[in-house]
Amino acid sequence: MAKVKKSIDYKHGQCRLCKSDGKLCYSHIIPEFLFKPIYNEKHQITIVDDSKEVYSTIQKGVREHLLCKKCEGLFEKWEKYFLELWFEELNITVMNEKLLKSENIDYDKFKLFHLSILWRAGISSLPSFSEVKLGVHEEKLRKMLLAQSPGSSKHYQMFGYILVWPDNTVLKELIDMPSRVKLYDHWGYQFIFGGAAWHYVVSSHTCEDHVPYALNEDGTVCMLRGPIEKYPTIVDLFKKRSNNGWDVVK
Ligand SMILES: [Zn+2]
Repeated sequence: MAKVKKSIDYKHGQCRLCKSDGKLCYSHIIPEFLFKPIYNEKHQITIVDDSKEVYSTIQKGVREHLLCKKCEGLFEKWEKYFLELWFEELNITVMNEKLLKSENIDYDKFKLFHLSILWRAGISSLPSFSEVKLGVHEEKLRKMLLAQSPGSSKHYQMFGYILVWPDNTVLKELIDMPSRVKLYDHWGYQFIFGGAAWHYVVSSHTCEDHVPYALNEDGTVCMLRGPIEKYPTIVDLFKKRSNNGWDVVK
């Protein structure tokens, strides 16, 4: 008789996006492809808890049962767009030594991808995302995502810093769990993944003015270069990694 394999890939419950009951996928909060540059040869990720100086390893990213298969598929569509754009097709114009510009971005897909990560982090019960508390924005974002509507560029404005080593290569092998930060008189969150520090403004007030370098509805985005040496915690992290025998893969 064939053995029944116990699976944690599905669980019964209510989908957090469309609210229907059924099988829930064991979904990533931050999509798995963003973890690929930091997996070791055993497909493990090193988690560093700076406060306790503890290092541990996990496999398969950070996951939770949140979405039905249909909603998971909706998010995968935007993830695929970001993956192809960001890692393969992005055309960047160097404006000056501090500023990079990219055009022809699909505003809807690009923004919905980022909003979906912000919202997933907000509804997650995992300790890694405990700093993300969206309040009334949780439901507003749920409705926008379900309707596939990214809102105007003045709502939930977002901007990013490309993180670069002194030799100008992009630091892709870092994911930092989100933190709450003050962004131009508004509260918001910072996430680090895909070689950039992303900032999302979460405010009940419409930002009448664009924060500098926010994603624009015309598909342009300007991003500041963020030299790693300006981020002492990241430099420390990589020093600790190399002291413990982990290679930094560039
Ligand atoms: Zn659903």
